[in-house]
Amino acid sequence: FRPPFQSETATLLVAVRCRPLNAKEKLRFRDILRVVDDKIVVVLDPDIAKEYLDKVQGRSKEKQYAFDLAFDYTNSNEVVYQRTVGTLVPNVVKGFTSTIFAYGATGSGKTHTMVGTQDDPGLMVLSLRDIFNRIQMETEIDFEVTCSYLEVYNEVIYDLLERSSGHLELREDPEQGITIAGLKKIQVNSADRILELLEEGNSRRKTESTDANATSSRSHAVLEIVVKRKEKNNYNAPVLKGKLSLVDLAGSERASETNNAGQKLRDGANINRSLLALANCINALGKQGKKGLSYVPYRNSKLTRLLKDGLSGNSRTAMIATVSSSSDQYQHTTNTLKYADRAKEI
Ligand code: ADP
Ligand code: MG
Repeated sequence: FRPPFQSETATLLVAVRCRPLNAKEKLRFRDILRVVDDKIVVVLDPDIAKEYLDKVQGRSKEKQYAFDLAFDYTNSNEVVYQRTVGTLVPNVVKGFTSTIFAYGATGSGKTHTMVGTQDDPGLMVLSLRDIFNRIQMETEIDFEVTCSYLEVYNEVIYDLLERSSGHLELREDPEQGITIAGLKKIQVNSADRILELLEEGNSRRKTESTDANATSSRSHAVLEIVVKRKEKNNYNAPVLKGKLSLVDLAGSERASETNNAGQKLRDGANINRSLLALANCINALGKQGKKGLSYVPYRNSKLTRLLKDGLSGNSRTAMIATVSSSSDQYQHTTNTLKYADRAKEI
């Protein structure tokens, strides 16, 4: 299998994953997405009558977008894992840093991809399994694996592993890099219990009903896996620290589309701010890859400050943009594809 990165120096992988229509949607809407050659997403006109007329008259509203990888609904979490995060994990075990995030509208499949279920575990669980498999093969090295799980909601950080978490402070330490004071870190020895912990954590996520979707998640959830390694029986050996951050972003639907005021509108604005800041950082990083140093505006949001280490330097980043194939989601789908397309170009 070819490495998904375009070149040795490329640091950002952009993948798109299309989710199928559910039974209810199938009754009313049509499937408007086609994946070609594992790379290209074709978006059909959501209006079938118009599509026919356009064809007859030689026009088409059909649009095409090309990415590093495109997954259709026949691809399982396991396949998505192997071709995205699975290519980053070997380096994390060696002491490097990587970040992966799922971006998309509410209901497009972010949590399905990142967390998954018992029968179809997502990238967070599959990453840990893979990490432990690799650790077992290295007999000359001592390892320690710790996890933390937090959310950023309204530009405030909360601990998802604590029953009732207060506001946590983000600190920038010259030695340690970014740290979060008081964040619970649990040592893990296998991937077994992680799904339980993630589900428990997810039940604490701030959700609030909006017009867009009754269970729309308005927070960003970040699982951080830290892998420390040190040569056995050698007191002078350095401790290397690898880190993998997996981020289930808040729904990307725009604040302007959310038809309500006050608290909820503020949520929308802040979510937008974090997502916008993330786009700007990715943008600047892309330029850095091409033209050498450029200014990366990490400081503009909590999320980007938090992810700073994992988005810069020697780190590799993968973005999975999730989209629904249902024609009623046409606007969200094209917005997401455009965001992903912009991330890729730069
Ligand atoms: P999000 O986290 O983006 O709001 P979810 O992951 O909760 O969306 O997905 C919404 C619904 O669609 C869930 O019922 C989920 O099981 C289903 N779903 C998402 N992605 C897929 C997929 N690739 N295949 C099958 N079902 C999916
Ligand atoms: Mg979700």
